[in-house]
Amino acid sequence: MNQTDIWRKSLDILQQNIKKADFLVWFQGTNILKIEQGVAIIGLPSIFAKDWFQKRYRDDIKAALKAVDDTIYEIDFEIDTSLVADGRGVDLQTMMKSQKKKVRKMPNRQEVKVAGEMISKMLNPKYNLENFVVGGDNRLAHAACSAVARRPGAAYNPLFIYGGVGLGKTHLLQATGNEMLRMHPDVNVVYGTAEKFTNEIVDAIRKYDTRSFHRRYRNADCLILDDIQFFANKGKTQEEFFHTFNELYDGNKQIIISSDRPPKELAGLEDRLVSRFEMGMIVDVSIPDYETRLAILQNKCQEQEALLPKEVLEFIAFNCHHNIRELEGVLMQLIARAKLQNSAASVNDVRDILKRLGRTEEVNQFGNEMIAPKSITSSDEILDKIADYFNVTKSDLIGDRRSREIMIPRQISMYIMRHEFDYAYEKIGDVMGGRNHTTAMHAYSKICDSLQVDQKLVRDIGAIKREMGL
Ligand code: ADP
Ligand code: MG
Repeated sequence: MNQTDIWRKSLDILQQNIKKADFLVWFQGTNILKIEQGVAIIGLPSIFAKDWFQKRYRDDIKAALKAVDDTIYEIDFEIDTSLVADGRGVDLQTMMKSQKKKVRKMPNRQEVKVAGEMISKMLNPKYNLENFVVGGDNRLAHAACSAVARRPGAAYNPLFIYGGVGLGKTHLLQATGNEMLRMHPDVNVVYGTAEKFTNEIVDAIRKYDTRSFHRRYRNADCLILDDIQFFANKGKTQEEFFHTFNELYDGNKQIIISSDRPPKELAGLEDRLVSRFEMGMIVDVSIPDYETRLAILQNKCQEQEALLPKEVLEFIAFNCHHNIRELEGVLMQLIARAKLQNSAASVNDVRDILKRLGRTEEVNQFGNEMIAPKSITSSDEILDKIADYFNVTKSDLIGDRRSREIMIPRQISMYIMRHEFDYAYEKIGDVMGGRNHTTAMHAYSKICDSLQVDQKLVRDIGAIKREMGL
């Protein structure tokens, strides 16, 4: 039995003792990340979830896991925010539907063929074009995706979607893949993140086997690549992608790409790639207007079978105007709280949640009251914490000394500003002593890479985040 099977079986058991709505809210997108010497690490997709799991579900989960696999005797929780987008988290809707033996409308992930032989689990059926709420600025992106799904390779090629974090790029990309498969079941859709593409090349080169890699990507009828900004300054990867792109494009195959910025602003990307991206259709996603945000909240409530007062939803929609992921996060936390306290959620609860998220600049629509800051609000405070932790000074961090003891904390500072506080690379460059934004990008990806292999770094960053109350 693989880990996901063990987790599914455990979920079957857990489901019997947990109220359905709670079960759906909390266990959606979870999975076992690894099992090591009898300890199962459970991955949770939401940053809000860990405490709650520790408090409420720890014992139940342990018991359920033990019942499924008696070599497991201990558990721990870890946040992994990419679980859902990667399709690694267990989708409860699908699981419950298959329990009821209902026919599924969306293609089953196992059925998605890649290169006629491999199985892709990458498309998450929960993303579809119907549950993407269209409003204002998103209309064009949504329309372009529908057109491409209907007529792959013929409508807009390549289709390039860009926008900031949490604004629905991954949703749209995966929904387009799903819709395409629904309309043209024989089409070979290959979806992956640019990061995965990169890792696979590195792997292929290491094993002297680029053939299967080429087969995988160059046999696609539709290649969907998410977060292409990850290719910045990765020459070999870009070259490989350039050839893949040309081959697909010349064969009239569809290419869909997402990025956190428009092609022209992709520093560190070869001009020839940028000009390829500009050959097709470029659309952006930005934060939808208030009414659309409200509609997204209402949809989400329906999906979660939760009933919240109208003014509460309005208050969230009004205040969360940066990113939809945050909007959803606030709502989910609110639903959970209401259940915990066994009371209806109030505007004050939302205020409280926003406060804990460190939202300082918000003004509420009812009383112009400022929401109090959380502990960390400025780059200075971030640097203070990191300097403290590593026993260096703030001027070391932003200065030019290049010894290892300083370089690593410096890179960690940039990583944390990006990863935890969503700073733009330009801003990071500025607060780090006027560095170029590419330096910040480089530091960020360097730390991301190192986190895969360096346990000490994982611990250090974990400790710093705790210091920051994150
Ligand atoms: P990105 O890839 O741009 O960082 P995601 O696609 O992961 O963002 O979106 C974050 C969350 O917001 C997802 O749960 C997604 O389903 C939801 N979302 C974003 N935009 C919309 C929308 N217009 N309608 C419904 N849900 C949305
Ligand atoms: Mg994404």
